[in-house]
This record gives sequence, C-alpha cells and structure tokens, in this order.
Amino acid sequence: GKGAAMVTAVAQRLASQRKEIDDTLEAFTLSSTQLQQVKERMRVELERGLKKDTHHTASVKMLPSYVYRTPDGTERGKFLALDLGGTNFRVLVVKIRSGIRKSVRMYNKIYAIPLEIMQGTGEELFDHIVHCISDFLDYMGMKNTRLPLGFTFSFPCSQTGIDKGTLVSWTKGFKATDCEGHDVVDMLREAIKRQNEFDLDIVAVVNDTVGTMMTCAYEDPKCEIGLIAGTGSNVCYMEAMKNIEVVEGDNGQMCVNTEWGGFGDNDNIEDIRTKFDREVDQGSLNVGKQRFEKMTSGMYLGEIVRQILIDLTRRGLLFRGRITEPLKTRGIFETKFLSQIESDRLALLQVRSILQHLGLDSTCDDSIIVKEVCGAVSRRAAQLCGAGMAAIVDKIRENRGLDHLDITVGVDGTLYKLHPHFSPIMHQTVKELAPKCNVNFLLSEDGSGKGAALITAVGCRLREQEQK
Ligand code: BGC
Ligand code: MG
Repeated sequence: GKGAAMVTAVAQRLASQRKEIDDTLEAFTLSSTQLQQVKERMRVELERGLKKDTHHTASVKMLPSYVYRTPDGTERGKFLALDLGGTNFRVLVVKIRSGIRKSVRMYNKIYAIPLEIMQGTGEELFDHIVHCISDFLDYMGMKNTRLPLGFTFSFPCSQTGIDKGTLVSWTKGFKATDCEGHDVVDMLREAIKRQNEFDLDIVAVVNDTVGTMMTCAYEDPKCEIGLIAGTGSNVCYMEAMKNIEVVEGDNGQMCVNTEWGGFGDNDNIEDIRTKFDREVDQGSLNVGKQRFEKMTSGMYLGEIVRQILIDLTRRGLLFRGRITEPLKTRGIFETKFLSQIESDRLALLQVRSILQHLGLDSTCDDSIIVKEVCGAVSRRAAQLCGAGMAAIVDKIRENRGLDHLDITVGVDGTLYKLHPHFSPIMHQTVKELAPKCNVNFLLSEDGSGKGAALITAVGCRLREQEQK
C-alpha cells in the first residue's frame, strides 16, 4: 500500500544520502599501494634535500642543525631556554646535573603571543619576546646572571652554525614582517639592545624536533629521531655527514631537520590531495606551501573537517542543509575537540553536546556523520605520518647497511598526545611499511625546553674547546 511505498522512498533516500557521504569520504582512504608510494616519494625528496645540486629547490629542505651527537649524560650547568613556535612563548631556567645524580630540573613561565603580534612587524614580535624574558628574569631574580641561552625556534631555519639561523619562511600561524631571510639570533640580540636592560649569551638556536630528539635521547640512547605531531608537523634524525652534501666534512653524523611539512610543494602528491585540502590551503597564511603539514597537523585537520562539513551541508546531507555562522568560522575545530569527538568512550549524545558547545545544532544522525568525517581525516593524517616515518627509518637502516634496525623516535605534540587514534594508526603504518625496522616511540616530557638546554650545554663545551 501507500505506507509501504513511503517507507521504501525514505529508505531509498537514506541509502542515496549514505552513498553520497561514503563517496565524499572515499577520497580520504589511502590504499596500501598509495601509502607505499608516499613512502617512496618521501625518500626521493629526502635525497633531493641532501644533495648539493638539488638542495636549494627541494620541497623537503633537509636543514643541517650543527648538532653532531645526542647527549651522553656528561652535560651539566644552568641554562636559560626560550621556546617559540605555537601560540605561546615560554621562558625557562633549566638545571642539568651529570654523573650518578644525573637529572634535569626546570622552572618556566608561559606568555601568550597575541595574534596581532604573530602577524605584526618583526620588531614588535622580538620586542615582545624580550619583554617577556625581562619579566621572567625579574620574577626569578636573575637579571644580572647572564646564563647561556638556547632558543627553540620552531620554524625552518637555514643554519651555518649552532648559533646562526636564517628564517627561511614562517609557517603555522606566524606572519611577522621583515623576518624571513634574517638571522633569528641577530633579531633577538637587536631587540635586547633596543630594550637596553640586560644582556644574554645566546649559544644555540634549535628546532623543536631536535630539542625533542635530544630530550628523549637523554633517557634512551637508541633515540636518533625527533617527531612533532602538533600544531605543525616535522621530523629530524641523525644523518651520516657524508650524505649531507651542503656541509663540509664526511665523518660522523649530524642531526638534520627535514622540514617534511613542505613535502608535496613540488606537486608530487597532487594525486592524493582532495578539493578540501586545496580549500584549506587557499584559506591559509602560506598558500601553496607546507602541503604535507596541511594534511597532517593539528592546525589544519579541523579545517579540513570543517570544509567537508560545509560541503555536506550545502548538499543537504547534514545540519538540515543550513550553513550557520559557527560552521563558517575558521579554526573552530581545534585538536582538543577533534580528539574528544573521536574518543571511543564518548556516547553520541556527548558528541552532540560538544557540537552544541561549538554552536552547532545537530541531530543524532548529524553527530554520527561528523564523527565519521573526523575519523577519515585523522586516519589519513596518521597514515601519512607513518608513511613518511617509514621512509626515514628505512633510510637510516640502509645508511648503516643493516638488515634490521632497532630505533627510538622521541615524540611531542598535541595531536600525538591527545588524539585517541592518531598514534596507534601511525605506529601500525610504520610497522607495515618498514617491516625491517623495529620502531619504538617515546613521549618527550617537555622536549623543547629541556632539549634546548642540552644542546646549549654541548654548545658551551664546544666553545670552550675552541678557545683552548
Ligand atoms: C615548522 C617546523 C616545526 C614544526 C613543528 C612546522 O610548521 O616548519 O620547523 O618543527 O612546525 O612545530
Ligand atoms: Mg658532508
């Protein structure tokens, strides 16, 4: 009868809606062949970054860090550390003891960096930093101590020494003028001079990946890789000097900051990018740049999710077809919310209340769809990171002519730490794509501050040796 026909019509509509949603998310499923390809292409780009002829145009920049070894436990002293790279700026005092009472103690203070400073002039940014340092030194009663300082600066820097680093380009949420192409240590020194209140002894400039690797290596000597899966995405690892063609010398090793976030900037992963990735890129501060980072890091995953939700809503498949203000707001889906939405312990009702909290009215069906979208986007991110990591560990294994490599990766970052599925999926992908490597992941406790201090300790010792 009529009733049955209506039920059939509804069922058909639901089935076709289901198919539309599945088709949309299908673009985010990567086959094992595709992941294998990502690994291979990453390997090619790692090599291009290391070679003299291709280094300058490489999408993966492979920046030398001038850190020649991981800590050996003899590091000691009292240091200042700065940490700039996310939304906050931190100043720390770090005390390192060596020998049997080997330990690291830290005091720190966190300062906000307002948006207008992140995206204002370079002078304003560095004046603000010096202002925060001044406040910290007052607070600690240390204005006249002049401790050696390590500066964790989590952006691509072209280094010619441990205390020299030219900012190649801003990434993530930063866009201060007149900084790109300038030495960050010089900019800091000039700002200190302008303030004319205290002096600092700047010994090292450090990428956060390198700081993280050093911190974990302090506990585990097998740690020779540092990974950040947070607001941004990046990896460093110990490379053989003979392979680093842009640095003189063929003996020993040096830590290389890969800047793998730039992978894809030469169009070599266009086949796996979706129209949503392109929309996120178009709305970003650095269009066309950091394409891999934009598929894998916390600052952008929520934006990909939002673009998909807008698309589904436009097609009448979600939120009753209504595109509301919150949905139009850039950045509403922070890593913290994605992590909550994907938590397995959360009932759908709670997913709805998170969406409600973000200003999005949802039905029960909506909440199921939103959760699926989040899952598809974060799964792809974890798999891509895993594929990239597989390229790194296999390269290290081959460098050393080994059939099997046992290695530890020091990790930091909110995506890795907070997200319920990101780390297990990444681990699994590395296992599948690099079966000859046994990769252990070690969470870093406060990696960048501690690591900067450890590198500063090494830097001070080198300096003393040079003066002898
Ligand atoms: C930067 C890297 C940094 C990473 C994680 C990226 O945007 O380019 O230098 O290591 O974020 O903070
Ligand atoms: Mg060399």
